[in-house]
Amino acid sequence: MGWQKRIDAALITRREQDAYRSRMVNQGGGRWLTQQGQRYLNFSSNDYLGLSQHPAIIDAWQTGATRYGVGSGGSGHVTGYTDAHAALEGELAQWLGYPRALLFVSGYAANQAVVAALMQSQDRILADKLSHASLLEAAAQSPATLRRFAHNQPAALQRLLEGDCPGETLAVTEGIFSMDGDSAPLGALHALTQARGAWLMVDDAHGVGVCGEQGRGSCWQQGIQPELLVVTFGKAFGVSGAALLCSESVADYFLQFARHLIYSTSMPPAQACALRAALSCIQQGDALRDRLGRHIAQFRAGAGDLPFTLMPSQSAIQPLIVGDNAAALRVAQRLREQGFWVSAMRPPTVPPGSARLRITLTASHTDEDIARLLSALHTAAHEQEEGANE
Ligand SMILES: *Cc1c(COP(=O)(O)O)cnc(C)c1O
Repeated sequence: MGWQKRIDAALITRREQDAYRSRMVNQGGGRWLTQQGQRYLNFSSNDYLGLSQHPAIIDAWQTGATRYGVGSGGSGHVTGYTDAHAALEGELAQWLGYPRALLFVSGYAANQAVVAALMQSQDRILADKLSHASLLEAAAQSPATLRRFAHNQPAALQRLLEGDCPGETLAVTEGIFSMDGDSAPLGALHALTQARGAWLMVDDAHGVGVCGEQGRGSCWQQGIQPELLVVTFGKAFGVSGAALLCSESVADYFLQFARHLIYSTSMPPAQACALRAALSCIQQGDALRDRLGRHIAQFRAGAGDLPFTLMPSQSAIQPLIVGDNAAALRVAQRLREQGFWVSAMRPPTVPPGSARLRITLTASHTDEDIARLLSALHTAAHEQEEGANE
């Protein structure tokens, strides 16, 4: 067929499915998003506590850059591991109650690294069906067998665990699911893996900072300590990067075998400084979490009678399932015309037929913002129904 033909055909297919993705330049940050001179209230960022704009964190990054320069200069194994990185790792481990924390440049890299370094050909990965692309992709690329279990169904995991496996078993889930906003039944899942000598890996990208005492996340909130916990810093922390929390020996193992740590430049030390400041904001962030909680309650109370499916989510992620790709895009477009930035999520990011508006609420919104969004949603839904009946 030839490379160019293959690429052109793939793009045409995407367009035909209303699944074509493109980026737009955005000049905003935080509560607002500015595009082509137009300002929108931003309901699609993962900056759940508004920390990306926090003066103390910005200041810590700047001070860090003045002290350390802007780059780490190498992988952590060479020269890229500074006292700023070490201090952050120590604080994270202590905060989350683990012996060790290891920093990664992103959650994507952390998930890939953990799965790649652990899994061998006799092993199996049992992953919640809705686990993040970074986890499922790492599992699919690994020599281990990948089996997916029904979303948030411990009984489905149990059936898989009862099957024979010549090697080791790693069960994988998210704490709060990125597209549905619901929480995993972590206690039940961990009890099952423990009973079978399997390990549990929890990716708490959307829980850490937001739920649990001091923002310690889903595992803390549900009273479990999985063998492997991944937390990411691009969401509630408002920055970027990730960490793996684990035991002493597992951390030492990853320092030998996690290629993303060995062959990749570590995060800038100034970023580690910013993350330490962000951690401190999160530890003291009860007021921000209360405010976010109020917005979630307000949104759910007002969205129940929309002609879309409101998911059973208590988190900052409040998806409204529209179903059809084109309809979801139309509603998002209508909201945009009214000054609200809401993302339409379509397959393959979400299962076929479940295109949705992925609305994210943050502590930087005001009560008034939420009320205005609800009113715009009712208008857009009404117009969508009229359009469908014509
Ligand atoms: C965002 C996200 C990631 C990726 O983290 P990055 O730091 O953005 O690479 C991984 N897992 C889940 C569940 C996520 O939502």
